[in-house]
Amino acid sequence: MTTADTALYPPERLETVADAVRAQALDVLLLTPGPDLRYVTGYDAKQLERLTCLVVPSSADPFLVVPALELKAAQASPAGDLGVELVTWGETVDPFGIIKGRIGDPHSIALADRMWALHVLQFERAFPRAGKQLASRILSPLRIRKSAAEVAALKEAGEAIDRVHASVPRWLRPGVTERQVGAKIAEAILAEGHVSADFVIVGSGPNAASPHHEVSDRVIQDGDVVVVDIGGTMPSGYCSDCTRTYAVGHAPGDFTAYYEVLQRAQDAATTSVRPGVTAESVDQTARGIIAGAGYGEWFIHRTGHGIGLETHEDPYIVEGNATPLEPGMAFSVEPGIYPGPHGARIEDIVICTDPATGAGYQRMNNAPRDLVIV
Ligand code: ZN
Ligand code: ZN
Ligand code: ZN
Repeated sequence: MTTADTALYPPERLETVADAVRAQALDVLLLTPGPDLRYVTGYDAKQLERLTCLVVPSSADPFLVVPALELKAAQASPAGDLGVELVTWGETVDPFGIIKGRIGDPHSIALADRMWALHVLQFERAFPRAGKQLASRILSPLRIRKSAAEVAALKEAGEAIDRVHASVPRWLRPGVTERQVGAKIAEAILAEGHVSADFVIVGSGPNAASPHHEVSDRVIQDGDVVVVDIGGTMPSGYCSDCTRTYAVGHAPGDFTAYYEVLQRAQDAATTSVRPGVTAESVDQTARGIIAGAGYGEWFIHRTGHGIGLETHEDPYIVEGNATPLEPGMAFSVEPGIYPGPHGARIEDIVICTDPATGAGYQRMNNAPRDLVIV
């Protein structure tokens, strides 16, 4: 394992997770490939119909079940250095039976949130009497506070996506389609260091008012507003997500009035971040400014979402989430206003930090937030 791997995926994390399984009085935690497995072991395993599963029982040593043909990949991953037993199974063996044979008949099991139904139903059949819970009960409280190495990984991701945004003005031209611009952006997301371009939203004209529009064959026109919301995954496993709104040639008159409101709301919500402030109060800060200016009905989504090994994870910055922010929490602050003929959103990833070290927040994205006219 390289030092970078060990800092990001510390080997002692598996023990921390086993302690949490015991503290929650769970009998066993079952993690198939996905962000939880990677968080605990560093193993970026492929999600396949053949079962790979980290089994963390409360009263025995953890073991990793891997298909025989995946053994080399598992050994080469950081999981190979954890000292955890690798239990392989061949093509004609039932891996669920292997797990049952080792852990018996648990009363309570927790399953990875992103486990395929294919496997969930087989665990259901293997352990019909066990109460089933989501693994996030164990893992979210750990994953929600990022270590210094995770913050550094998010910063690296933020810088990479900022470099892509710096190039966007070169590609947004009247006469090109959203899809053509999106293809250039996807290429740049990879060229700037991501291993995958996870989403590319180029919403021009009326499409700017559809927050999760991706791309279409709409031809960009002079006077269009274009919302560009893009992100990818870095080799570290950590994700980027950043939105900027651009105007082509000139901005419509009724647009600049609310863009200014949006910018103020996004800034106020960001600078309100510090330990002890609740997630919902950050939402209220943004929403209060937007509603106060008369645009409340056009702000149709939560203010943000946590980010880390997944683009959307805890904590959600939304009314009803009274979770107090803590140092290390990482999330987007992305209010939007979408009146219809056009719309706008500004999004940065923000880390809640200890005010003793400066402000109570740190931005991972630093591309200019003023309206860019291209
Ligand atoms: Zn979104
Ligand atoms: Zn976004
Ligand atoms: Zn986002």
